[in-house]
Amino acid sequence: METAFTLVMGLLFGLVLGSFVTMLSYRIPRKLSIVKPPSQCPSCKHRLMRRDLIPIFSWLTQRGICRYCNARIGRRYLVIEILVTLTVTLTFLIIGLSFALLPALLAIVALASFVVIWVEDER
Ligand SMILES: [Zn+2]
Repeated sequence: METAFTLVMGLLFGLVLGSFVTMLSYRIPRKLSIVKPPSQCPSCKHRLMRRDLIPIFSWLTQRGICRYCNARIGRRYLVIEILVTLTVTLTFLIIGLSFALLPALLAIVALASFVVIWVEDER
């Protein structure tokens, strides 16, 4: 029971942090603010609604296409969100629900963002 709760918490935190990493790794190299504006389509600049921002699921249900302008949404979003969700969930299961999770989650977000920015810069 406790493990199931830890698993669900890990998945929820993983989805949110994965989405956060995609935002950071898109905005930091472009020198954009990470607090505003709210998320928008890079192509048509349409503001994204809540249903467009559900990590992993929105990309899958829209098949990687913007619902407003039909532009392709990079597979990077899906891949980053899945990898971060898996890493965070595993970390929750290994460490358990404790304050030791905080530095671990910070490290995951920082490292994942760094790696994505670095990989995309090399291309
Ligand atoms: Zn669009």
